[in-house]
Amino acid sequence: MGTAAQTSLLRRLGLGPLSLTGWRRWSALSAVVALTLVTQVGVILWPVFGMFRGRGAGWRRLAVGVAMYALACAALVPPVAAVLGRVPLPCAGGSLRARSWLYCAANRRYVAPELRAAAREIADSVAAENPGTYVSYLDGAFPFRGLPLLPHLSHGDGRKLDLALFYVDRAGRPLEVGGSPVGYFGYVQPARSGDAACPQRWFDLRWDLAALQRWLMPDALDRGRTRRLVATAARHPAIAKGLIEPHLQRTLGVRSAKLRFQGCGAARHDDHVHLQLR
Ligand SMILES: [Zn+2]
Repeated sequence: MGTAAQTSLLRRLGLGPLSLTGWRRWSALSAVVALTLVTQVGVILWPVFGMFRGRGAGWRRLAVGVAMYALACAALVPPVAAVLGRVPLPCAGGSLRARSWLYCAANRRYVAPELRAAAREIADSVAAENPGTYVSYLDGAFPFRGLPLLPHLSHGDGRKLDLALFYVDRAGRPLEVGGSPVGYFGYVQPARSGDAACPQRWFDLRWDLAALQRWLMPDALDRGRTRRLVATAARHPAIAKGLIEPHLQRTLGVRSAKLRFQGCGAARHDDHVHLQLR
């Protein structure tokens, strides 16, 4: 490759999506922005859009992009995050696992070391009491500070973690996971409409998704295992606060000064319980 061609390639790598024209430029820019908002690490794909030209360039960029992203998430992000004070939760195996592979693939499983230790102890205790059971986590935080973990209002600092509830199927058999496919948005509804903590509004951040509940929540709450989970978490000395919907706390019968209602201005907490360090 001649010097002029090298300079041109380097320039294209630097320009990334901006080296493309027309609709390709805007769709590439949107893809990088969306991936960065969802995974934080997606920004590393910027130079990929400057690579390759001509026939089959799109597929080659896709292959290189997937390989670069996977390599960065597996080999680069964990050691750098550890130096900066965040560690990844385990994806699979053991008593604490990701509810969906998406939380691992999107780097949303990073927390402070103290929170990982606490989550493991809580999960070990629940698993010891219920053989064959494991605790599923949902969103933790990104590996690095600086970008909010949307749509959460408070997960940016690595000191918060959401845990999935436990469910039984319609026949009352305990499910390994259950609820919605990603853990969020399938709600345990109040037993009576008067038990709801907040009035129905035409718009708020509670994401009721009423029309979708029959698909998002095909199961029922497993009171025994969820009670054990919430009580164990509330007793843990490292956990300062837990957020849970009041009707769910009443149903579970767990009393603790650490358990609070998040208020009507934030997302519902009857599809998960939110824990935070002191
Ligand atoms: Zn949370």
